[in-house]
Amino acid sequence: MALFDVHAHLTDRRLAADEAGVLARAAAAGVGTIISNGLNPEDNAAVAALAARSPLVKPAFGLYPVDAVLPELLASGHSYPRDTEGEAPDFDVCYADLERRIEGAFAMGEVGLDHYWVPEALWALQEERFRRLVRLALAADKPLIVHTRKAEARALEVLLEEGAQRVVWHCFSAKVKLGERIAAAGHWLSIPANAHKAENFRLLLEKLPRDKVLLETDCPYLGPEKGALNEPANVAGTAALAAQLWGASPEAALAQLGANFEGLFRAAP
Ligand SMILES: [Zn+2]
Repeated sequence: MALFDVHAHLTDRRLAADEAGVLARAAAAGVGTIISNGLNPEDNAAVAALAARSPLVKPAFGLYPVDAVLPELLASGHSYPRDTEGEAPDFDVCYADLERRIEGAFAMGEVGLDHYWVPEALWALQEERFRRLVRLALAADKPLIVHTRKAEARALEVLLEEGAQRVVWHCFSAKVKLGERIAAAGHWLSIPANAHKAENFRLLLEKLPRDKVLLETDCPYLGPEKGALNEPANVAGTAALAAQLWGASPEAALAQLGANFEGLFRAAP
């Protein structure tokens, strides 16, 4: 069974600069699938191009929850340290991009709710747009890769109201109890590569039902070592930690994780 990374940003310029090296190290570490997540129309185009030239990469197309209301956020006088250059497109442009891409997507992501960067006056608008994206994914029968920050309980309500079942929560950083509720609702949670030193992720790995656990890196962010660039090969360390915490052999842990991936994505990693 191969390893996998359900949440990478391989189109980030820091990783794209060494694309061949990043992919070769992932393959050497036993990674069979990297889901590269898109943030906006420009990034989705880069994800599509990357997936077309690399069999290891599966495309997830999305709209980062902050980008979903970015023109309104900036117009209301708030600022946001955006990585991407150029204008923030209107939601209608972003939605049309996803409508066009959804059939060819491995998943929709990342999408979600962010109450950390987005001011409260825009929460209702952000939620309405999130619902539209969830419906688009459901209509195309695609799994969802969800980002939430300071809005986890609300995001769960929205997803359940919309009837979304094939959902993975990436870098879930709210209380472990809520993580357990999410797993009980049938969703999956992916654990990043810094779990060995991040108490919350380590606890999740220990306490969540094993069949709801997936692996991610969120690379180039959240590296396992301070200052070092993160990359998909680092999921191997999290798989080893899972085996240790579960008291399972590396092979048994890998088989469990692979089965979980198949449960959500209906494809082997
Ligand atoms: Zn991300």
